Amino acid sequence: MLTLKDPTLLTAKAYVDGKWIEGEETFDVTNPATGEVIAKVTHVDVPGVTAAIDAAYAAKKGWAAHTGKERSAILRKWFELMVANADDLATILTAEMGKPFAEARGEILYGASFIEWFAEEAKRVYGDTIPGHQRDKRIVILKQPIGVVGSITPWNFPNAMIARKVAPALAAGCTFVARPAELTPLSALAMAVLAERAGIPAGVFNIIPSKSAAETGEELCRNPKVAKISFTGSTRVGTILMRQCAPTIKKMSLELGGNAPFIVFDDADVDAAVDGAMIAKFRNGGQTCVCANRIYVQSGVYEEFAEKLAKKVAALKVGDGLADKDAVVGPLISSSAVAKVEDHLSDALAKGAKVTVGGKPHEKGGTFFQPTVLTGMTPDMKISVEETFGPLAPLYRFEKEEEALDLANDTEFGLAGYFYSRDINRIWRVAERMETGMVGINTGLISTEVAPFGGVKQSGLGREGSKYGIDDYVEIKYLCFSVD
Ligand code: ADP
Repeated sequence: MLTLKDPTLLTAKAYVDGKWIEGEETFDVTNPATGEVIAKVTHVDVPGVTAAIDAAYAAKKGWAAHTGKERSAILRKWFELMVANADDLATILTAEMGKPFAEARGEILYGASFIEWFAEEAKRVYGDTIPGHQRDKRIVILKQPIGVVGSITPWNFPNAMIARKVAPALAAGCTFVARPAELTPLSALAMAVLAERAGIPAGVFNIIPSKSAAETGEELCRNPKVAKISFTGSTRVGTILMRQCAPTIKKMSLELGGNAPFIVFDDADVDAAVDGAMIAKFRNGGQTCVCANRIYVQSGVYEEFAEKLAKKVAALKVGDGLADKDAVVGPLISSSAVAKVEDHLSDALAKGAKVTVGGKPHEKGGTFFQPTVLTGMTPDMKISVEETFGPLAPLYRFEKEEEALDLANDTEFGLAGYFYSRDINRIWRVAERMETGMVGINTGLISTEVAPFGGVKQSGLGREGSKYGIDDYVEIKYLCFSVD
């Protein structure tokens, strides 16, 4: 059992229309560090999904009628409760997802920061006035909530991925039906416990865990009462959802796969680049969509960078985030995640790469994997085109700036990119030419609620966070007045 200061935060019931629902059918949620079953969570079947959509639909008029300031006050309260309960929320998160406790706590605060930010923005959903096009015309622009939002989120950030969507949605006056990842529904349900305490009215925020993502997703996309789908996950599933949303022309926000390049130029501060690569690669055990997937290092600093990186990677402490509070790398989420890492590794080795650190399943067993550095990477290897989503740092050598940019952009993805340089002209050149929605320049950590998170190319549509984030949840209405 988990040790929590407030055990009521751990619930296995679904949350629909302000009621906690215990279903007949359940599915197991396990701790990836131990394989132990932590909870048997209620499975919401398709009629249950429809009922949640109906509840959100019924609640939308009342919620939209609140003033921005009223919604703001409730969201603010929710933010405060999340922060006050950060330790318990982090314990639940580590237990179901495996990331180290400190990182889990960081995620809770990061998720909460979106609720704080959008609590503030709720008061500032400004419209516009436009000088009329004729003498008798006056033009006013309103921004109105889109309506019911259906969200589907992955397991790698069980709290923050939902917070980043629900906060702007509720701030704008939308209502929300969230289908958390089947591997990590407990963090979402704990958020709902606090949402209820904060005074979010019944039906405004609903959580519908299910063992079958495809079934739930289909109903969320099909149902005409849902006006918008907000999804974070793979490009593969993103395309399925787009197809399913086509018949009802739903709005969509999609935060999809990445294949982030991380470029180190000869003029970089190599120590800073190594530190940046450690964060960009090994945060969450390499399981984030903005993780550096391909590390390109210019010839002049390649050996130095490779050596320094290897030293740091070899020192990473791997362990169970609840039993060992010093662990900085947890287990991978599942055995299929391990299989993908092993597949990418063996493909690279067969094509000439070398392991300088790690390279094997970790002696702790289960889904633990050794943090690994590979050198001598080439573009024909799988890692060059697919997201690894694991603790593998692959190093590619390059000679010229142009070559690095061509390699970096040679992917259908365009979420994040990183580079290290101290030449201001190069910094502008590379930043402008990098085909990604976000660029880290001399930093390996870019996520914050104050900036717009999102991708270009097949990495998605829309932005989360910042003053732009609310745009994904409002419709623009144009009023044309004829006056005497
Ligand atoms: P990841 O590899 O990050 O898990 P996925 O795209 O496979 O990416 O999964 C992201 C989320 O989408 C998860 O919650 C998963 O259960 C859900 N999902 C998977 N397949 C579908 C589908 N066909 N329709 C709707 N949701 C899906």
